[in-house]
Amino acid sequence: MRLSVLGSTGSIGRQTLELARCFDDMSIGALAAFGNIDLIEEQIHEFDPEICCIYNEEKAKELKERLGHSCKTRIVSGMEGLIECAVCEAVDTVLISVVGMIGIRPTIEAIKAGKNIAQANKEPIVCAGHIIMPLAEKMGVRLIPVDSEHSAIYQCLRGEKGNRAEKLWLTASGGPFRGRKREELKGITPADALKHPSWNMGAKITIDSSTLVNKGLEVIEAHYLFGVPADDIIVAVQPGSVVHSMVQFEDGAIKAQLGSPDMKVPIAYALHNERRMAYEGRKTLGFAELADIRFEAPDMDTFKGLRLGIEACRREGTLTTVYNAANEECVAAFLSGRIGYLDIADGIEAAMKAHRVTDDPDLDKIFEAEREARSFIRGLYNLDEDRGSRC
Ligand code: MG
Repeated sequence: MRLSVLGSTGSIGRQTLELARCFDDMSIGALAAFGNIDLIEEQIHEFDPEICCIYNEEKAKELKERLGHSCKTRIVSGMEGLIECAVCEAVDTVLISVVGMIGIRPTIEAIKAGKNIAQANKEPIVCAGHIIMPLAEKMGVRLIPVDSEHSAIYQCLRGEKGNRAEKLWLTASGGPFRGRKREELKGITPADALKHPSWNMGAKITIDSSTLVNKGLEVIEAHYLFGVPADDIIVAVQPGSVVHSMVQFEDGAIKAQLGSPDMKVPIAYALHNERRMAYEGRKTLGFAELADIRFEAPDMDTFKGLRLGIEACRREGTLTTVYNAANEECVAAFLSGRIGYLDIADGIEAAMKAHRVTDDPDLDKIFEAEREARSFIRGLYNLDEDRGSRC
């Protein structure tokens, strides 16, 4: 398999390259990152891809200078460059692990080019799942989720052709503030929220896990990936994150997928087309972890970001984009100390209330809703910096 890794300097991208070192059948045809040229320079020397995109143009220029004329890897930049890496003729599979809505166009273009997709970037499915899923089916490409919960559901559905999934049990760790009430969350700082109890991830998704907005996004993601209505997706808090998710069938039987919290399992499963492979550093569960499994319902009053996600999932249309874009804008403002922790969910709620939903939106409508939500949040919290569209 020849792979394109979009987002190779992030947590999922780095773990994918670690797997590429273990598996002889995996080579790297394309790499893309936002602006971390120190790390990508090392990756280019090690994996020798044909093409590499640095999204930030200035950084791309700097990298080109550093590499000099003797380097065979072609350096490109911007959205155009990212798409070039997604459709690159030399690759057959694209792992999309960029953060945010920036992955929408590359996902669509990669599918149109007939590439198999390992999808670690949830926003394309959240905002454009109604476009992406039918397109993948029409093109006959595999789209395997890399998000641990969705990979678990995907694995539970194997061998169940013709059997309808009645309910999806989407598990959640509950985040670092599980058990606290709203009052107790007022003074939370970015440093507090960046400590996740079980998963080791990038900053944006770690904040989303603490607010449970990540779980809201995952409900929407599951809805589009598996065609299950919002109200048949049950969020179950399982501290410890060893039950990665479950599927309930019409006879009442429930299948679950368990394992130690390690993203390499869903990454390798997606990349190897559902084949299971041993890898270096693999961990297994013992009696201690299994005896410790317990479930609880999420507290959606304290963590209303989850409730809002379920509402957006029920309504569909552009509301899922507004939910996501308002959150992206709020999290960036929170991380830079411009708004408080509780302002994140309050901002999303206000943006959703103010939005007039368009049903079955095309890409232009989706990006319009994105810009509207971002500008709404900037106005709401008097944020002067115009971050514009991220797509
Ligand atoms: Mg997840």
